[in-house]
Amino acid sequence: MRLRPHHLLCTQGYSGKGYSPEFVKNMDAVVRRLRTEQKTPIELVFSTDDLCSCCPDMLACDLCRENEKVKRFDRKTAEYFGLEEKTYIYQELTAHIRSHITPEILEDICGGCSWYPVSACRKNITGKK
Ligand code: SF4
Ligand code: SF4
Repeated sequence: MRLRPHHLLCTQGYSGKGYSPEFVKNMDAVVRRLRTEQKTPIELVFSTDDLCSCCPDMLACDLCRENEKVKRFDRKTAEYFGLEEKTYIYQELTAHIRSHITPEILEDICGGCSWYPVSACRKNITGKK
């Protein structure tokens, strides 16, 4: 499975809402797998990924309708957690992220996301409401 850096956060925060029925169906399946398996290898890519591929906002390979914004989310996520384009075990990587993240870091990464004020991301990722 291919995931871009900020989707390591979105897959933890996800609570069933998304951009379209197709996006939600795919996200449900991906998240169910990531939350029930113990060791899922993922290829971290600094580009569009297996969640983007079902999103109405993906315009082309490596091109999101909000490319500047999502590239910033990716860059900040990669910088805060020292991420490279390579294969990781999702559950180990997200445990590493959760042990280092604070509400301030999450706000710095996700502050411009339209889901941030209305989603369960903050509570699910940092444990704080
Ligand atoms: S606030 Fe947005 S970018 Fe951040 S984890 Fe949630 S959905 Fe992803
Ligand atoms: S909004 Fe952009 S980055 Fe987010 S899933 Fe859709 S195409 Fe990918």
